Amino acid sequence: MKAHRTALYPGTFDPITNGHADLVNRAARVFDKVYIAIAESSHKAPLFSLDERIALARKEVRKLKNVEVVGFSTLLVDFAHEVKAGVILRGLRAVSDFEYEFQMALTNRRLAQDIETVFLMPSESYAFLSSTLLKEAAALGADFSQF
Ligand code: ADP
Repeated sequence: MKAHRTALYPGTFDPITNGHADLVNRAARVFDKVYIAIAESSHKAPLFSLDERIALARKEVRKLKNVEVVGFSTLLVDFAHEVKAGVILRGLRAVSDFEYEFQMALTNRRLAQDIETVFLMPSESYAFLSSTLLKEAAALGADFSQF
């Protein structure tokens, strides 16, 4: 029998963008269940509160029946065990993402041998999108509602 595959897609999602949503749509086709796990990340001083980030993400993925949005503030691998996710999902946009993601994947593997990190690439139209850049430009008056 095929194992039930659950993936955890962790991040700050401050706020969720079309790039994140593109990745979740792809993941929803690959995995039986996908959790979007929104990290409290208080050290990053997010623009939106955890509750706001959860609400925005829920609205974005409401049509995907096997996707659930949850918040967390514990160690990522502990949270993955808690929801029985065997996969940590991350997005790779450009080579510049690689070093940080590689480091994190190997650290998480050191912490939990039973969890694999899996990477998906977004559509090229979203490969340049970053919450950080959107926030910086929006603060200066740019309209980014389309993203
Ligand atoms: P973190 O603070 O953990 O980097 P983010 O919300 O910025 O949280 O990103 C969460 C994940 O989503 C990361 O793996 C990141 O590479 C990925 N991601 C962010 N923006 C995009 C995008 N435009 N397309 C695909 N993946 C993305």
